Amino acid sequence: MTGSSLRELLRDDLRDQTAYGAPQLDVPVALNTNESSYPVPAAVVETIARRVGAVASSLNRYPDREFTELRTALAAYLTRTTGTALVADQLWAGNGSNEVLSHLVQAFGGQGRTALGFTPSYSMHPIIARSVGTTWVDGLRGAPSGVFDLDLDRAVEQARETDPHLVFLCSPNNPTGTSLSLDVVEAVYDAAPRAVVVVDEAYTEFARPGTPSATTLLDGRERLVVTRTMSKAFAFAGVRLGYLAAAAELTELLRLVRLPYHLSSVTQAVALAALEHADEMLAMVEAIKTERDRLVAGVTDLGLTPVPSDANFVLVGGFADAHTTWQALLEQGVLVRDVGIAHHLRITAGTPAETEAVLAALATLDRSHRQER
Ligand SMILES: *Cc1c(COP(=O)(O)O)cnc(C)c1O
Repeated sequence: MTGSSLRELLRDDLRDQTAYGAPQLDVPVALNTNESSYPVPAAVVETIARRVGAVASSLNRYPDREFTELRTALAAYLTRTTGTALVADQLWAGNGSNEVLSHLVQAFGGQGRTALGFTPSYSMHPIIARSVGTTWVDGLRGAPSGVFDLDLDRAVEQARETDPHLVFLCSPNNPTGTSLSLDVVEAVYDAAPRAVVVVDEAYTEFARPGTPSATTLLDGRERLVVTRTMSKAFAFAGVRLGYLAAAAELTELLRLVRLPYHLSSVTQAVALAALEHADEMLAMVEAIKTERDRLVAGVTDLGLTPVPSDANFVLVGGFADAHTTWQALLEQGVLVRDVGIAHHLRITAGTPAETEAVLAALATLDRSHRQER
């Protein structure tokens, strides 16, 4: 059977979809998927080895299906860093926050149901929602204060109009970098009375000081969910550990859709090792924020237009054709991300040497790469 006829066997609603596909290329300067450029610290590597060693001989058995020790450690971590008192029953985890998002759409989305998001935002939100047949509604951000800010009144209006079963908010937003005011979260929650409202906080550790987490809104809001990940600030993308905080009654329902034993004993052990060293894992966050700010200043000096960022990346505008410039940078060994927004490229903040490399590569580009103004 050929590939094209196989496609005809595919579910109708998937036939014209494209898969997630950030290129994984072996380049000297990889600033395209918002990973940390810093390796896992030696002390943490030691704890990982010890904890994995301790479970290795019991790998003949299934893991703790309830991952109780990990949920307890995650609750303690969030309580300490957000100031919201949380308990283990309010925590849920998966193999990356993509998996916990997938549990949410399996439980609350599906055929005949609608999910609302506000583009441009994380490209996986619609892909995950549609994977179970949920109808995706592309809302608009359209704020007067800046092209990419999500305007409260417009968000409320679209939530009322759509009356969705799921709403995806993202703060700080990928790929724009902007944080969302909690007023918007509260207003959207009230305007979508039957929706599970998801706030994706993958980049929250990079936000400016004084930016509160949406976990502070959980009390009394049983449909609100805050998702987090160890992939970005925690410098642990290879482990695949994402989690969420919500009402205990909501996390209980996710047990209906998860596959049994979805978090391996090894994953649980490794995540616990990192949480034991949370401060060391997060130690590079300040250094990365410094590089982000240097990136903003550097591209501004080059006459480009960065979007203000609360994350570990900067969306940079001012290119004539984003894909042509993406290719020209790649030829210089610098991989950034073409997120499909005209005239813009997204650049991850890495090490000082990487900042210098990307700025030097941008400086070599001639006028033909610049958008006419
Ligand atoms: C990177 C990212 C994630 C992380 O996904 P994992 O599956 O945890 O690696 C989640 N949400 C957003 C908005 C992201 O950019």
